[in-house]
Formats: sequence, structure tokens, C-alpha cells
Amino acid sequence: MSIDFIEALSTDNLTAIKTSPKTDVHCHAFFSARRESVEGWLGHPLTKPPLKMKGVEGMMAYADAILAPHIKHREGFEFVAVSAMNDAIQDGVVMLEMSFDIRLAEFYPNGITELCAFIEALIKRYKTQADLRPEFGFSRGCADDPKLMNLAHEAVELGFFQSIDLYSRQEVCPPEVMKPLFTKARAAGMKLKAHVGEFEDAEEIRRTVEVLDLDEVQHGIAAVESVEVMRWLSENQIQLNVCPTSNVMLDGVSDLASHPIRILFDNGVPVTINTDDLMIFGQSVSEEYRNLYRSGVFSAQELEDIRCASLATVGAR
Ligand SMILES: [Zn+2]
Repeated sequence: MSIDFIEALSTDNLTAIKTSPKTDVHCHAFFSARRESVEGWLGHPLTKPPLKMKGVEGMMAYADAILAPHIKHREGFEFVAVSAMNDAIQDGVVMLEMSFDIRLAEFYPNGITELCAFIEALIKRYKTQADLRPEFGFSRGCADDPKLMNLAHEAVELGFFQSIDLYSRQEVCPPEVMKPLFTKARAAGMKLKAHVGEFEDAEEIRRTVEVLDLDEVQHGIAAVESVEVMRWLSENQIQLNVCPTSNVMLDGVSDLASHPIRILFDNGVPVTINTDDLMIFGQSVSEEYRNLYRSGVFSAQELEDIRCASLATVGAR
């Protein structure tokens, strides 16, 4: 007999936690599979990431040295994407907004249309088990490359992607630079997201949301620094798609027990719980829920409320 999510959490039954439907609305396709899946494919182990890395730069130093050489090509990317769907389904994830970086098009002779054809086939292959909603990802570091910016506009015009996500270091590209692309994405009916406030600056979160007319923020945990910004996010129902283990490992947060998601939640900010880069951070959505319960951040009932709200927001079954 199946047991409910609250009982599964309070009895620390991970198998039962996995059977409850969940969403993952902050995950990047390139690092979205379990590292163990890649190791199985390669036939050898990969060096684990350090428990603490210095921000996104520290993470990329690890990823570039250890992971990228094995997967930075079409075959590797496609293996990871298929594995990610299997890993998510095993974890009880029924809806994913997975971001596909524009640079992945470089793996395909026919560029973005061929990348979209692959994603389309992936959606079809798994549609009875999980609803994969393709998200188009753009790194701020690519904003000064006219070729990639043109490609980004082309990607929006295709009408294939349902949402857009902007990421990497805030300081290399002010949100105003991305305004034309986001305006076009808005007109195309896409959901608008950006990474901001992963490490600092609550005001920058509000500014980015206002400039780009964001629907949701990836991370946004620095909002905790300002009661006013939290109130503003709550009033405008701007959802923060939080990835707890990512925040701890990249040292935006010292440990899980002191994760600001508790204060954000208490201030009425809508939050969801997500993986970010499963290959690096190693915790599935179910494990993230379990960790938040075990570390005393939330009660089982509160995690149930977050889980149900995340499903309702996206209209998942
Ligand atoms: Zn992210």
C-alpha cells in the first residue's frame, strides 16, 4: 500500500518520498543526469566535486576539468539528456522545465532546428511518464557575441521553447542588455526567468524582475536580506526556484539548516525545490525534500504544501 508524502518524510522512507509527484523547474540539461549514470556509460568513475566550491567559477572549474571533456559533444549531451529523463522519472518528477543552452546548437550540423528536433523526440518518448517543457537557456557571458544573440532571437522565433532562462554572473551583463530578447519572448507567450540573487544583493533581484518583466527567479535567495524585497516578491507572487544543495556547495549558504528558504517561505514568497545540476550537486528533488526535513528547515506538512503548490502552479497532473 502506498503511503502519503507526509508519512514518507516523517518515517524517512525515501522510496515512498519518490512515489509522490514533484516538479523540477530549475535544471540545466547539460549537467542534468546523475554523475553515476555518466560513469556507467563511460565505464569508469569520475572525480567527485569538493563539498564546497567557490561560487559559479569554482563549479565551472570542476565541471570543465572533470565532466565537460566526456560530454561536450552531441553524443555526450544526448546521453545526458536521456539519462536525466530516466533519473527524474525514477525520482517521481512529473514535470520538468529543463533549460537547453543556446550553445548546444553548435553540436548539430543543422544548428538550432536539429537541436529542437532532438528535444521534441525526447518529449514524445517520455510524455506518458513526465511532461518535459523545453526551456531555452542563455548565458550572460554570450550577450556580447552578435552571432549567439542572433541565434537566441531565432530560437524565440521558432515558437518551440516554452520558457527562457538567463544565467551566469550578473555583473557581466546588466538586465537592460537582454531587454529586447525578453520582450520578444514575452510577445511569444514564453515564461520569463533569470538567475539572480544567488549570492548577494536583494535590490538587484527586484531590479532584474522589473527590467525583464520576469515571472520567476532562479535562486533569488538574497531576497532574504531585505524584508521590503521579500514583501514585494510576495505581493507580486514572483516565485523563487530554489536549489538548496547547490546553494550550500557553492557557498552562498553555509549549511542546509540555515538555508534562507525558511525565512523566504515565512515571508510569503512562493518557493519551489529543484536540482540545478544533478551531475554536480548529486541530490534529486526527492532527496532535496528529504534533506530539508531532516535538517529541520521545514515540517513534513510545510514540504507537502510546497510540493502541492509547485504542481498547481504549472498545472501538472
Ligand atoms: Zn541554475
